[in-house]
Amino acid sequence: MPAEPISLAVVGAAGRMGQRLVALAKEDANLKLVAAIERAEHPQIGKDAGEIAGLGSIGVPLSADLPAQTPNVLIDFSAPVSMRNWLSVCRQRKIAMVIGTTGLHESDHALIDKAAADIAVLQAPNMSLGVNVLFKIAGMVAQMLGDDYDKEIVEGHHRFKKDAPSGTALGLADAILKAMNKSRDALVYDRHGDDCVRKRGDIGVHALRIGDEVGRHTAYFASQGERLELTHVATNRDTFVRGALRAATWLAGQKPGRYAIADMLGL
Ligand code: NAD
Repeated sequence: MPAEPISLAVVGAAGRMGQRLVALAKEDANLKLVAAIERAEHPQIGKDAGEIAGLGSIGVPLSADLPAQTPNVLIDFSAPVSMRNWLSVCRQRKIAMVIGTTGLHESDHALIDKAAADIAVLQAPNMSLGVNVLFKIAGMVAQMLGDDYDKEIVEGHHRFKKDAPSGTALGLADAILKAMNKSRDALVYDRHGDDCVRKRGDIGVHALRIGDEVGRHTAYFASQGERLELTHVATNRDTFVRGALRAATWLAGQKPGRYAIADMLGL
């Protein structure tokens, strides 16, 4: 007998990511969308989430609350303040949570760690397979080249993105810092002014906000006479959506704890 599909709630369901999550969850036989959640004052509350996503009616209205039926997994692509609220709800109702929202603070990571004592949580600033492989190899390259090579990260995103630098750029920086036993004190953001000479060991992080760019990240490793560039370009948001849906299916079978995409992929 086929296994029951995993029941799923999506927070931020009328947003850019949320609409694609609703659309692609509908195509996935392992998943059953049971709730499409938005902020209470969203103008489309009550409208069918499938219609908002361009699918036609799917019988799931956009709502500010969870239905009485507790879903197995909740996917959050909304805003940090909403993530905090839904993390607490998930902990109370024992719902596994996939967190894609970026712009999180250190205190948010501490809250996620606490909740992970009771529920399975997978948080990732970038759900694409390629970016998570980039994290891995950037750490290896940084370790191999050491401080003789200047390291800079440049990211580009669409003009509507709220947080900067992107969560992915920080994830990339963290991968390099971890491999080199350094802290975020080594990061230098968006140089500007008369006294910006690079210090050995600095890692520059820079953000472009341009048109409809879905997401591009380059890590530069440069010394006298050569430069190595590792670049990832997302050409379509669905890469993040497919990663998040795969994470939801995987997370439903995990014990309480905090997970990353690398755990799911066995990287
Ligand atoms: P968006 O602005 O298009 O959508 C966000 C949605 O969340 C909006 O519809 C908004 O109304 C809703 N929202 C805001 N506050 C809410 C609340 N309190 N309760 C419920 N819903 C609320 O943004 P987007 O491009 O879809 O991105 C959403 C988030 O996901 C951002 O933080 C973005 O950086 C992040 N993101 C992460 C990845 C990844 O792979 N991890 C990829 C793309 C985007």
